[in-house]
Amino acid sequence: MSGRKVQWERMFPDELEEGFKECPIVYLPYGLCEPHGWHNAVGLDAIRAHECCIHAAQVHGGIVAPPYYWHCHEISGYGSWGHAKINQERTWLTAIPPWMFLKSMCYHIRAVDALGFQGAILFSGHSGPHHQDVPIVIDIMQQHVGVRLYSLMGIGLNRDDFEDGKGMGGHAGRGETSALWAVAPDCVDMSRMPEDDTRKPDFAMGDYNESSSRLVGEKMVEGIIEHFGDKTEKLLIEHQNEGANTTPLTFDDVEGIWEEEIRPKLTDFASMQPPNPEPPKDSQWHANSRIPKGRIL
Ligand SMILES: [Zn+2]
Repeated sequence: MSGRKVQWERMFPDELEEGFKECPIVYLPYGLCEPHGWHNAVGLDAIRAHECCIHAAQVHGGIVAPPYYWHCHEISGYGSWGHAKINQERTWLTAIPPWMFLKSMCYHIRAVDALGFQGAILFSGHSGPHHQDVPIVIDIMQQHVGVRLYSLMGIGLNRDDFEDGKGMGGHAGRGETSALWAVAPDCVDMSRMPEDDTRKPDFAMGDYNESSSRLVGEKMVEGIIEHFGDKTEKLLIEHQNEGANTTPLTFDDVEGIWEEEIRPKLTDFASMQPPNPEPPKDSQWHANSRIPKGRIL
């Protein structure tokens, strides 16, 4: 793996210009701080996404934007999930509501388009109902920008790299643990795994963590690097064929797109449906899980 510098925030202007000329692709990594068992650092989703983007850019070219550590949570189904999987533990979440996250994403797209990137790979390590909403927002934004967009939400590719065929183990299961272990070994500590059931549901831990494997994690990461290599090529070709030389959007344009094209769809978004089941009144998840009517919708 080449040691080329790819992290936007750590590069000097001349290095950025050189990287951009070589490959005008940008990675936008997303995640948040969220419970992932006692044995994983809470930034798992963003750390994993960011590191995978860095490895992919080092191999295939491109520049990696600073990770955005604030993401959809607490509301809607996230609240039902939180009550069941995190319960009353202090959450250590960096949560914002979906309308803030999705609008931020629009502004990130505006910025990289205005800079002249030809392709953008948006990789969110955090999944949830928003994985159905993000493609809708991206389709809308795509009609207004020249940069060609591709997004991937969740653990990564839909595949099982474990030989026993039991799968990745879901949220904070062995798949996520293994991938984090591969890219940030100091953020996984198997000695912190629970020894008994006294603190169940164990800070949102998933299944089969005892068979987590750094080697399997490396295989998963290699798969993602390869996938992003394919997408880099495709986006650059797509830009050649379809990327209109549009005038960069202004902040005001983004607000207009949001108000006219995206905001009217909010009530239909998966991330904006009432929680089911609604967390009980005495749960820390109760208040924010409800959809605020009036001011936002
Ligand atoms: Zn995760």
